[in-house]
Amino acid sequence: MSHGNLSLLPFIQAIKNKIDNHADEIAQLDQAIGDGDHLINLQRGIEALLKNSEELEQLEFSAALSKIGMTLMSTMGGASGSLFGSMFVTMGKAAKDKPVNLMNLTEIFTAGVESIKARGKADIGEKTMLDALIPAAISLQQSVSNDAELSVALENMKKAAVDGMESTKDMLATKGRASFLGERARGHIDAGARTSQLMLCAIADVIIKNH
Ligand code: ADP
Ligand code: MG
Repeated sequence: MSHGNLSLLPFIQAIKNKIDNHADEIAQLDQAIGDGDHLINLQRGIEALLKNSEELEQLEFSAALSKIGMTLMSTMGGASGSLFGSMFVTMGKAAKDKPVNLMNLTEIFTAGVESIKARGKADIGEKTMLDALIPAAISLQQSVSNDAELSVALENMKKAAVDGMESTKDMLATKGRASFLGERARGHIDAGARTSQLMLCAIADVIIKNH
């Protein structure tokens, strides 16, 4: 990972593949405790990004992140569309004038996660995407303070996201549609936690492979 223009296309493509490969599972998760549209919302957002890919390729890193955020906000729909949208717009602002390295990416990602917390008025332990995203951010922060090697940092981040995603299974939901279900939400993994974890793993694997 170095300075210069970082193309985001391989990441978007890897995310698309990962989500498509888990399509049935994701659809079922949101059918169980949501309204069943999370997969479609996400696929619509990813398609819109791929359609804009030529424009995205021309933009530098921070502008590309902002553009991704605005595209997701206007195309994705659902609670997740506005949450992921605001995350990327915030990451775009945070990425301005920063070289791409682990420390800065951690800072940028953390700012994005904070914006989801603020917009969704939610935190860890509420059976949402934040249960994958917050542990991933904390893991990266720890790796930065420990001066960990990039691939180690990314493998640890993946594990934190998986553990966090799995932790949603036994939780009660206090935010989002699943919160209307009370005890009936228990026993199901949150769809947004699963897709967030899958996307984080896809991103990490692209970086590890090209490192
Ligand atoms: P909708 O809930 O509008 O149908 P989606 O199905 O696309 O939207 O996304 C649902 C996911 O969004 C949930 O699985 C959960 O992870 C996440 N989510 C919902 N509300 C919140 C919130 N307030 N804060 C964080 N994440 C949330
Ligand atoms: Mg839904």
